[in-house]
Amino acid sequence: MKNIIIAVDGHSSCGKSTVAKAVARKLGIAYIDTGAMYRAVTLYAIRHGLAKEGYIDAEGIAGALSDMDITFSFDKEMGRNTTYLNGENVEDEIRGMAVSGLVSPVSAIPAVRAKLTDWQREMGRNQSVIMDGRDIGTTVFPDADLKIFMTARPEVRARRRYDELTAKGQEANLAEILRNVEERDRQDSTRAVSPLRKADDAIVLDNSDMTREEQFDFVIERVKEIKQAHPCK
Ligand code: C5P
Repeated sequence: MKNIIIAVDGHSSCGKSTVAKAVARKLGIAYIDTGAMYRAVTLYAIRHGLAKEGYIDAEGIAGALSDMDITFSFDKEMGRNTTYLNGENVEDEIRGMAVSGLVSPVSAIPAVRAKLTDWQREMGRNQSVIMDGRDIGTTVFPDADLKIFMTARPEVRARRRYDELTAKGQEANLAEILRNVEERDRQDSTRAVSPLRKADDAIVLDNSDMTREEQFDFVIERVKEIKQAHPCK
């Protein structure tokens, strides 16, 4: 069996990770949340005074990349991935508004993208993976076996993010989240290096009016089609 690479890209907060995790579980393959990696770099930058509102020390952040060790573990009790920065569990902190507000400018730094792209390619080298992000199908794995480009109406996405944060007991403001979601899409789509865009051969999945199950079935159907077309996968 040859390894299979599935790229899931798309707009902010459209449920990429929820679908990708469920598909990973079903297929028994690894799930990698590349947004968590960019968020962990951003958290490190904030803590070290290298990023704050209106200020990004791109050189300082680039120079500090070798001091950052970002790892994941699967938390069976919570049924979710946990992100660690230099051994510390930062899963909740990287999802908060402080990191969300600065992650797009930090992600636009070319040295950050180069380093994380290398790590991501390494993670997909000898195993089957489903990876979600913004540039997986265009830059990280341009030859991925399956590329999905996910999107949904901004109001729907903001509401989902709001529900996710409040369910975890975190403070949230719907209008602020909507602004953040739209602003991140704008910044991610207009940056110079690896901007967010649909790969020419990606399949669009607009899930504004779809249940989680329907989204899951949609991706699993596409995987089946690939396996039928290429039986060795
Ligand atoms: O996926 P998530 O919303 O957690 O990603 C957070 C941010 O990380 C995005 O808004 C984007 O700026 C950045 N990102 C990226 N490339 C990726 C994944 C995420 O630039 N592959």
